[in-house]
Amino acid sequence: MSGMSSVCPTCGLCCRSYIVTVCGRDVWEISRQQRLAPTQFIMAVPQAKDRADGFRLEAEGQNLQLMLDKQGRFELNRPCIFLVQLAGQHVTCGVYEHRPVVCRAYPFVSLEDGAAGVRTNALCPPEAWVGVEPNRPPWRDVVSRSEFEFELYGEVTARWNERVASLPGRRFALDEYCSYLLNVYEAIDAFDGTFGDAGMARVVHSWRTVPDPTADLDELHERGELPWVDYFLRVQQIVAGFYADLPRLEGGQSPVPGRPTRMSGQNQGAGGS
Ligand code: SF4
Ligand code: SF4
Repeated sequence: MSGMSSVCPTCGLCCRSYIVTVCGRDVWEISRQQRLAPTQFIMAVPQAKDRADGFRLEAEGQNLQLMLDKQGRFELNRPCIFLVQLAGQHVTCGVYEHRPVVCRAYPFVSLEDGAAGVRTNALCPPEAWVGVEPNRPPWRDVVSRSEFEFELYGEVTARWNERVASLPGRRFALDEYCSYLLNVYEAIDAFDGTFGDAGMARVVHSWRTVPDPTADLDELHERGELPWVDYFLRVQQIVAGFYADLPRLEGGQSPVPGRPTRMSGQNQGAGGS
């Protein structure tokens, strides 16, 4: 439920149909705001195809992802655990102010030219987006925000997976992973506060605006020309500060395709515990 169509309050079809994937920020935000333990509203499900944002609970195990639980059985075409049925065929999201980034972005997707458009297989009634202008900045920004958060989440899961890989034979509980998530995002949120709302808006708005793989990130970073690169690299530092005695087994994600993963000296000055 994007909430950006006047049809949404009487529709809710997306909230009754999909299984909703969430990132670490979503889990932290909902847990904090609703005072719920993550395992009260999420499920860990095997990833159909390994992706960078997959996490493991044992070194030899499969990649998992987090999904919002459902009302009743956990399966497609059941209402989301947070969907609230109101009088007069109206529905609302019980965590609307803190709904997951994919819910905010639905039904918009990134197009090849960097704009946002309504996905071709959207469940929305035909009248929902009549006369819309998908390229309006708020829509581009919610799509950017969703992509941005999942890419950051990939850094967070990578650090966790390094820990799991360092302890072969040990089976971690989902609660342990969730506890790690809450701590990491608490630290990231504190860092976000140093940017302020306007700074974070610039970060999100500038997401993925470096097409040149030969760009010198250190130089761009020092010149303050690329807010999202600056932000991403600092978050990598924060994440690397967790399990500080654990060496990185392999590189994380590079913020620019074809670029080295990390800046020199990046593992120094990390936060978290
Ligand atoms: S399916 Fe479309 S119109 Fe219906 S609630 Fe979801 S986003 Fe809104
Ligand atoms: S979290 Fe809210 S917006 Fe997202 S699927 Fe559930 S009810 Fe819908």
